[in-house]
Amino acid sequence: MDEKEEFPHKIWKALAEGGFLGIPIAEAYGGAGGDVLDMTIVVEELARRSGSIGLTFFMSSCFGAKTLQLCASEEQKRKYLPLLAQGKIMFSLSLTEPDGGTDVLGAMKTNAVDHGDHFLLNGQKVWTTSANVADFLIVVARTNDKVAKKADGISVFLVDKNAPGVRLRKLDKLGIRATQSFEVFYDNVKVPRENLLGEKDKGFYQILGMLNNERILTAALCLGEAQAAFDDALQYAKERKAFGRPIGQFQAIQHKIAWMRTKVELIRLMTYKAAWLQSLGRDCAIEANMAKLVAADFGGEVTDGGMQVLGGYCYSREYDMQRYWRDIRLHKVGPVSDEMILNFIGERLGLPKSY
Ligand SMILES: Cc1cc2nc3c(=O)[nH]c(=O)nc-3n(C[C@H](O)[C@H](O)[C@H](O)COP(=O)(O)OP(=O)(O)OC[C@H]3O[C@@H](n4cnc5c(N)ncnc54)[C@H](O)[C@@H]3O)c2cc1C
Repeated sequence: MDEKEEFPHKIWKALAEGGFLGIPIAEAYGGAGGDVLDMTIVVEELARRSGSIGLTFFMSSCFGAKTLQLCASEEQKRKYLPLLAQGKIMFSLSLTEPDGGTDVLGAMKTNAVDHGDHFLLNGQKVWTTSANVADFLIVVARTNDKVAKKADGISVFLVDKNAPGVRLRKLDKLGIRATQSFEVFYDNVKVPRENLLGEKDKGFYQILGMLNNERILTAALCLGEAQAAFDDALQYAKERKAFGRPIGQFQAIQHKIAWMRTKVELIRLMTYKAAWLQSLGRDCAIEANMAKLVAADFGGEVTDGGMQVLGGYCYSREYDMQRYWRDIRLHKVGPVSDEMILNFIGERLGLPKSY
């Protein structure tokens, strides 16, 4: 899948049939009514085999389902959520723009003009992941530029991927290759009013509620990838021989593997704790951010340690280690960078805003 950059539709169908895609969706809409702890475990397990499938589950089912549950009307929920749970439709998120993802509101030029029964959408997004396989793009656009605060005047739309005026250009990525990412051009796209999600001009506040989930599930992705790297490295250290003994007998390798296991444990505990707090409805903002930071950073160290254990074979595409190493690197920058996480934690500790 990684080599061919092919999305595994068969696996997606199996996930739907097994009820996994319905986990983040309330029972009233055909789901299982799971909480973030349930989603964390699924994302972790998927990412142990494929960061791409883990990310797609996270983006379409978790992010998509949660966005709809947070801001959609009752009619929209009844229309889309059961189809999402059955794996019949997929969503992707089209938020980041070429001029910047961290200062996403400052950089946002995509706009939608209100024409009563429809909006006309114009602009360009970048990194919209799974846009090729998605049926709907969740597009965040400016609907009012005469506002005092950048966060005002933003709206969220469900845009039919096949609508006239939507054009995709594939990006060539380092990792997470089984799910492709795209630049998306919106050129006078007519979006029916019924596809506005939530209230016009209040969109940014509506999606803020998802941020902690996003942090926790990013940490879960890293956890699965780091666990996979550890598992493979341990196995390799037992089997590979040098100087007539398994390389795992050398203290240098043994200590590296012991550290890898310890870091995986640390990531797991912090991720589960944040998920547990969130599932109880308790404030988890600082824990969710810290979990993402530790997971991306230490997870990267774990996969790098795995690369070293494999010696020259770390560079062979016949081994999965290089894939874990490439895949996990994303999470130090996306969906949110380590620097912004540190800014957030600093502010929460009472330090002045740095930007
Ligand atoms: C593979 C991949 C998949 C993605 N999928 C999606 C998707 O599906 N949908 C979507 O909308 N987006 C997606 N993104 C976009 C992702 O969310 C952004 O790349 C991310 O938010 C960073 O934005 P940027 O790339 O514009 O970096 P920039 O914002 O340009 O940042 C560059 C550097 O400056 C640092 N920086 C910026 N501001 C500050 C500050 N105030 N303090 C300290 N440091 C700062 C950043 O931390 C970073 O290190 C994806 C990205 C990738 C790479």
